[in-house]
Amino acid sequence: MTRQIVIVGGGIVGTALADCLARVEGHSVTVLERAPRERLQGSTGHAPGFIGLLNEAPVLTELARASALSYEGLGHNGRNGFNRSGGLEIATTNSALSSLESRAALAGESGLPAHLLSADQAIRSAPDLINPRHCLGGLLHPHDGTARADVLTSALRDRATEAGATFVHDAEVLGLEARGNHICLVRTQATSYPADDVVLACGIWGVGVAALAGLHLPLTPVAHPYVYGPTRPPASIMSPFVRWPEHHVYARNHGDRYGLGTYDHVPVPVADESLGHVAEQPWDAGNFDRALEQALDLLPITHRFEPEHRLNGVFSMTADNLPLLGPTKQLAGLWIAEAIWVTHAAGAAAALTRLMTGMESHTESLDSLNPDRFNGQQPDMLQDQALKLYRDIYASTPPGSKEYNNG
Ligand SMILES: Cc1cc2nc3c(=O)[nH]c(=O)nc-3n(C[C@H](O)[C@H](O)[C@H](O)COP(=O)(O)OP(=O)(O)OC[C@H]3O[C@@H](n4cnc5c(N)ncnc54)[C@H](O)[C@@H]3O)c2cc1C
Repeated sequence: MTRQIVIVGGGIVGTALADCLARVEGHSVTVLERAPRERLQGSTGHAPGFIGLLNEAPVLTELARASALSYEGLGHNGRNGFNRSGGLEIATTNSALSSLESRAALAGESGLPAHLLSADQAIRSAPDLINPRHCLGGLLHPHDGTARADVLTSALRDRATEAGATFVHDAEVLGLEARGNHICLVRTQATSYPADDVVLACGIWGVGVAALAGLHLPLTPVAHPYVYGPTRPPASIMSPFVRWPEHHVYARNHGDRYGLGTYDHVPVPVADESLGHVAEQPWDAGNFDRALEQALDLLPITHRFEPEHRLNGVFSMTADNLPLLGPTKQLAGLWIAEAIWVTHAAGAAAALTRLMTGMESHTESLDSLNPDRFNGQQPDMLQDQALKLYRDIYASTPPGSKEYNNG
């Protein structure tokens, strides 16, 4: 008998999952997406696309590595979705320089190439992004890259459709129904979809959609500033994307313009009631402007820009900076795929597919992503903990560690 799977959310996570599940024999996959087909209204439509493979949490390094491999070669309408441009971390102080040495050692232990660079070598790698006055050295990750999340999502959707998945747009999920303790139906305004399994891949809207099944998901949507400079003639050479870890700043050459983001501000949670249908909020000058000004100072004077477009995008966080990926104990047949970065989306989709179909798992420590791991903990405490991790996206604090318990 065919197993009916309904995925709620057609961002990069739901789409990558449809692409994996539709290939498994005996599975019928339907993706329900509230937005029209031509628009990505969730976080995927706003991500500037940094794919940094190395993370302090080995499970994330593993998912990132798998994702990058699967993004390679994906394109749509003549546009390339992923480029192994490399990622360059810059140190502006001696203590940051020794952190880069530790990161180089961690990369080695994780089986990823990473090269420590002198200040001169680092500046030569990305002269348009590095201010020589603020560079003591760098660490180059040659396997990192830059993604166009919209292009990847379109390519994955086409491939999933070819494999038999159905994408229904303008289909807002309004109800999740169970028979006994098993999910059985997904309801939209127009139609009801019988389901053996339902996967929630709703990004920042996960809390509201999970509540339809009486479930509380420990997700914290946060606001994040990213700005684009004016358009200019496309650069012939693409420099690596650059991060200044001790300043919590990153910048990218988008080809026809520069972009820069900063985490160096007071974290701004976004209440569920304030989320519209687009993962964007009005620009928050009070919280962002000063951090932005300081961040722009890290660019060379010749390439410093006046932002032409200021984006206040929203993405979801958890209390240990790890995704929620797997089944829930509360309701059989309900699966969660939330708080997942573009960086980890395709790898997470493949891992969840193996879990859902009983295939042997290739991913170690998938248990650490179990969506039920925070059960019984106070939502306010979990939100505070998530916000404390906002500035350190390449680190995570495992539950049980000293810092977590002191949180
Ligand atoms: C400014 C910014 C910068 C970022 N930078 C990076 C980066 O450099 N690298 C990186 O890897 N990640 C980055 N991210 C994070 C990344 O964009 C997200 O983690 C990722 O896109 C989440 O994908 P998703 O598919 O889970 O969610 P989304 O893309 O939000 O998709 C969820 C979908 O669910 C749909 N939906 C919601 N509710 C319903 C409903 N009731 N019925 C039907 N459909 C529904 C929505 O319309 C949406 O399309 C950034 C995010 C932002 C905002």
